[in-house]
Amino acid sequence: MSDRLQKVIAHAGVASRRKAEKLIAAGHVKVNGQVVKELGTKVSSTDEVKVDEVPIAKEPPVYYLLYKPRGVITAVTDDKHRKTVVDILEEVPERIYPVGRLDYDTSGLLILTNDGDLDNQLTHPKYEVEKTYVAKVKGIVTNDDLKRLRTGVMVDGRKTSKAKTNLIRTNRESSIVSLTIHEGRNHQVKKMFESIAHPVEKLSRETYGFLTLRGLQPGEYRRLKPHEVEELK
Ligand code: URA
Repeated sequence: MSDRLQKVIAHAGVASRRKAEKLIAAGHVKVNGQVVKELGTKVSSTDEVKVDEVPIAKEPPVYYLLYKPRGVITAVTDDKHRKTVVDILEEVPERIYPVGRLDYDTSGLLILTNDGDLDNQLTHPKYEVEKTYVAKVKGIVTNDDLKRLRTGVMVDGRKTSKAKTNLIRTNRESSIVSLTIHEGRNHQVKKMFESIAHPVEKLSRETYGFLTLRGLQPGEYRRLKPHEVEELK
């Protein structure tokens, strides 16, 4: 995840954002050994930033668990000025960003951090963290439908891997189903239900590995405890 150079310098406590802009324009700032004078240059946590040859302090890693409400975008900034998940955590001083993505209209558990290593690890396909979603879908979901979801359906030309399902309830118009998957493909849950002709009307992520939403309401967040961070790694 990258951020604007002047913001990174300001967050490191070197200068205000305005002053950081002046330092950049005057050629005082190097990124990976090269002088950068262009304001708004994007840098990531792996880039080395120096002001007058002094490396800026790296922020200590922080980890948050957010109960994302619907109608919020999973991003740091949005061109269309919609509210982002980072706006919800505006009091957090560190430059955090979301790990993975929940759709605009999906609610549920989202981790935010400034730890790029954890982000890479959790979003790598090899690291199969189990996620449970609860979906309200159109129509009556049958046992046969559930079996298809469990054994794998075609999504974007590729079969999904094994999943767990539980039919929570159903009536004539809709069904509530929990679906546990390891993968994290784009819009995967919605596409899986689409493939069995039961489009999703409402979606929430209830768990992420061993983490749950217990104790939180939509829009609320908490810091992960050190032992939770250890267990995630
Ligand atoms: N799958 C989806 O389709 N949407 C989400 O937000 C998360 C998983």
